[in-house]
Amino acid sequence: MALAGKAREDFEKKLKPYVGIGIGVEDVGRNPVNQAMIRQWCEAMGDELGVYTDAAAAAVSTHEGIVAPPTMLQAWILGGVAMAGGEDDPRDKQKELHRLFDEHGFTGVVATNTEQKYLRYLRPGDEVRAATQIESISEQKATGLGVGYFINTRTLFYDQDDAEVGSLTFRVLKFETEDRPSASEGEGSSAIPGKPQRIKPVLGHDNEWWWQCVEKGELAIQKCSSCGVLRHPPRPMCGECQSTDWEFIFSTGRGTINSYVVIHYPEVPGYTYPLVVAVVDLEEGTRFVSNVVDVDPAEVEIGMSVQASIEHVDDEMKLPVFRRA
Ligand SMILES: [Zn+2]
Repeated sequence: MALAGKAREDFEKKLKPYVGIGIGVEDVGRNPVNQAMIRQWCEAMGDELGVYTDAAAAAVSTHEGIVAPPTMLQAWILGGVAMAGGEDDPRDKQKELHRLFDEHGFTGVVATNTEQKYLRYLRPGDEVRAATQIESISEQKATGLGVGYFINTRTLFYDQDDAEVGSLTFRVLKFETEDRPSASEGEGSSAIPGKPQRIKPVLGHDNEWWWQCVEKGELAIQKCSSCGVLRHPPRPMCGECQSTDWEFIFSTGRGTINSYVVIHYPEVPGYTYPLVVAVVDLEEGTRFVSNVVDVDPAEVEIGMSVQASIEHVDDEMKLPVFRRA
């Protein structure tokens, strides 16, 4: 169902003028960098570093006073709840570009990458603003979510003296969803789009072994060879003793629900909604996040006994899912 031939050529011609331009509106922080937001951020992130929240500790640090966590950079300029609703600013070229994609059937959007760079620590009182440029738009790509285009933006952050304090690159995929307008009618396409597949995990040295166990029907849990503590998801180093030696055990899959949410929206292709996502306390003593299936979401409760079963969640991928025990 991808755009092809002349239709694709015409569409891509319309995309070209957006590459390299500023989006036309600046994001200006509504409050200067301040202690209250820093504290709330640190609480939410569980970051207890004194230089962010403890004035006395910060005073004797190399910073000689409170600084904001560098990763808060974008928090200083985000528009808050207002971002989600209201009228689009007609000057906003990024929103205009997204609408152009929508009109051609690429109504899905998912953020795929982000990278931040920090040039200096921000301190209470600093005023932050940000200017965004549309850096590039990819060729049309076939992805796990559907056919689409990657849009890269680059945001430069400035302080009250117009000095650059950091930058953010952000990549989204605008992809074709099934409610496509009739743009491809008349192309003689009778292909029935396949059932959507879930986004596949990125496999590497540190986690591939776990997925190989799943493939064989086993729910494995990594275990520190030095201190014996279990950990999941798989990672190279023990958080307790910093040992990089590890082995693994197989879980019985028995557990109880520690916490859960029921997701109704947004609906990501490849999942069935409402979707119950639970943190399960496995009886071996570690936690595992997965879906609870075949139970009315209204009946799911904290403390419910569940049993894992490894099964196909789409045509290609197997995962442990939980059912009421
Ligand atoms: Zn350990």
